[in-house]
Amino acid sequence: MKITFCGAAGEVTGSQHLIECGKLKVLLDCGLFQGHRAESRRKNETFFHRPSDLDAVILSHAHIDHCGNLPGLYREGYRGPVICTDATADVADVMLQDSIHIQVEDARHLEKKRTTNQPRIEPLYTEKDVRGIIRQLEPQSYGQWISLFADLRIRFRDAGHILGSAITELEFQEKGETRRLVFTGDLGRRGLPLLRDPEIVPGCDILISESTYGNRVHEPPANLKAELLRIVQHAVATGGKVVIPAFSLGRTQQIVFFLNQMQLAGELPAVPVFVDSPLSNRLTSIFRRYTELFDEEVQSSLHTDADPFSFHGLTYIASQEESMKLNYRKGACVIIAASGMCESGRVLHHLKHSVEDPNNMIVIIGFQAEHTLGRRIVDRQPYLKIYDRQYTLRAKVEILNGLSGHADVNDFKWWYEGLASQTGVGQAFLVHGEPAASQALAGVLKDYCDEEPVLPKLHETFEV
Ligand SMILES: [Zn+2]
Repeated sequence: MKITFCGAAGEVTGSQHLIECGKLKVLLDCGLFQGHRAESRRKNETFFHRPSDLDAVILSHAHIDHCGNLPGLYREGYRGPVICTDATADVADVMLQDSIHIQVEDARHLEKKRTTNQPRIEPLYTEKDVRGIIRQLEPQSYGQWISLFADLRIRFRDAGHILGSAITELEFQEKGETRRLVFTGDLGRRGLPLLRDPEIVPGCDILISESTYGNRVHEPPANLKAELLRIVQHAVATGGKVVIPAFSLGRTQQIVFFLNQMQLAGELPAVPVFVDSPLSNRLTSIFRRYTELFDEEVQSSLHTDADPFSFHGLTYIASQEESMKLNYRKGACVIIAASGMCESGRVLHHLKHSVEDPNNMIVIIGFQAEHTLGRRIVDRQPYLKIYDRQYTLRAKVEILNGLSGHADVNDFKWWYEGLASQTGVGQAFLVHGEPAASQALAGVLKDYCDEEPVLPKLHETFEV
């Protein structure tokens, strides 16, 4: 068997790994490289294999760094199946449609910097490619073995990372032997709101594990709920606005769920709450269809509260007009809007209208990359450039951590121990991590494997 690491090797985006066994060619994930625009474009526009030669693609979950280049495969002639869980198929449909606008926008920016002798820069893919690949999605249930070919069967287990996320078990038949490969996709955490804990799977010959936070210990999510309540109470007392920039997939639904729980417990003060993101609204309706995938806490609350994503005082904003009206609203309120790092979307309008008032609060949840407006707010820079104007930051800034969807070093230890306890682990590869995180995690993982864990480089191939 041969494994080639075509992405997420020594970095956290562009997840894509090619497995070749006998005549079979199977691709695990097909994500977009993200980050610096021109460099990402170079990495995303070519594949390190011939897409039309692939027999199957297995998709771990619908984050763009795992599914975002599937339309590129279609553009290059891939017409085979894309196997994923039912929820991932629905979420990927929405995420990929949304990604068309991002591709158009990125091409527009790159086109501005193009010199006259370079060819015109078109979007990475088009609506036709997205529609084409969505037709090829083949949704499957968790926990069932699926015979993809005579020599390969696979099974999805809950990864507890986002709705629909899966750990994939692959069993290849090679020269009369069964070779077991486990791919973590992105591994979730224990105790995250809404989601079940990652499932423990039996050991394997080959493990491909993510390592994003292999050198960190996260704060418990429960602290965040108490902090959120304190912030809302403060806003009600001062009559200020609370603006929460949030990712549309996962983060927004978790915050709404926390607020819903507070209201059920009689803790939430009477305050209007608005979710202002068309993408979040589309994704939340998918969450409502898959309540059976949520954890025990949600299951038991469903008996008395059928919809964990709605409560008295909560409004989902659809139109641009309603969104604009919020800017001139008086009195305390909570506005949850995309995007998470404050780089685009409706949250920019809300920030523009709220950062200069000391009664307001900006609540930043989770990691903010360098050179983003979100990071400048975290750093409490005195002046913020929003669109083309400078604003003075007078609002209070609150930073809440604890909702990361990725395993920390303790979650990894717990999960590896479960994996290794039955039949052990042969060779492990650590992907999807900055070098420092992967190296630290290799130190932990080596105790559970027969061989030293490998940190593959981009485009490196291993015979296993
Ligand atoms: Zn992910």
